Amino acid sequence: MTKFRQPVTQEQYERIKILIELNRTDAEIAVALNLSKSVIWRIRQGKWRPASQPVKKPEPEAEFASDQEDDEERSQAYKRCPGCGNKVLMPCVLCRVNAFKKRVKEAAERHGCPS
Ligand SMILES: [Zn+2]
Repeated sequence: MTKFRQPVTQEQYERIKILIELNRTDAEIAVALNLSKSVIWRIRQGKWRPASQPVKKPEPEAEFASDQEDDEERSQAYKRCPGCGNKVLMPCVLCRVNAFKKRVKEAAERHGCPS
């Protein structure tokens, strides 16, 4: 199991919350999103919030990529999902979660596990 810490993005946080609502276990979510179980646990307990954007070091090459452009790009990324009909960041997290659920269910059925 990987122990090293990595920042959890807002997107990952949303996915984790969805997976928690779908009654996935910490271990399942941790594996699905390649995060540590302690992070999932803290989010489940409501003891965790997504980290604010890391402070950017002033690098000459980064001057042209302003935050405003990033935000605009991000808002344009929200599209009506053909899979579930929700307005989401593509690829759709919900549909990915559903696909994940389906995989888990199919795997469980293959192994004769009731859950
Ligand atoms: Zn969708």
